[in-house]
Amino acid sequence: MSLGCARCGACCDPVALDFSVWQWAVTDARTHASEDFASAEHRADRMFIAASLRPVSAEGGVIYLACRFYDREHMACRAYEDRPPMCSGYPWYGRDPEPYRGYGQCSYQLDLPPSQRPEGSRPLIPLTVVSRPSAWRAACGRSLGDSTR
Ligand code: SF4
Ligand code: SF4
Repeated sequence: MSLGCARCGACCDPVALDFSVWQWAVTDARTHASEDFASAEHRADRMFIAASLRPVSAEGGVIYLACRFYDREHMACRAYEDRPPMCSGYPWYGRDPEPYRGYGQCSYQLDLPPSQRPEGSRPLIPLTVVSRPSAWRAACGRSLGDSTR
């Protein structure tokens, strides 16, 4: 059972994308006019990338972008209910959890056994589960009162 997002903001501020994905999304709309999008989700993601993400920097084939919906003061998404598929599905996109080199503090790393998390990863516990001991136990595989760790 996934504990969900701890809202650390790492994947929103900035958004990191493969440079080629970003290029695909911002290519002139006319180029895409007759494109057969793989899905409505694809189209929604492309529109979101082109319209709502502003390039900040780039390095090693990755481009870093500022999202106009990210509220830094409250560390929250101002479009949470309407966020695009690339955000709402992150990081598993409906598939089984699998090792990924993403953010070590991401609470979704708790969906993986420790041996499959990035070296030095320290996943956060979402505040929403602090008052749900059963969820905590399920994630950690031990009793809250067990001090043997
Ligand atoms: S739309 Fe929301 S969830 Fe997606 S990158 Fe922007 S702030 Fe993050
Ligand atoms: S906990 Fe994970 S999904 Fe949530 S904001 Fe942080 S990096 Fe993104």
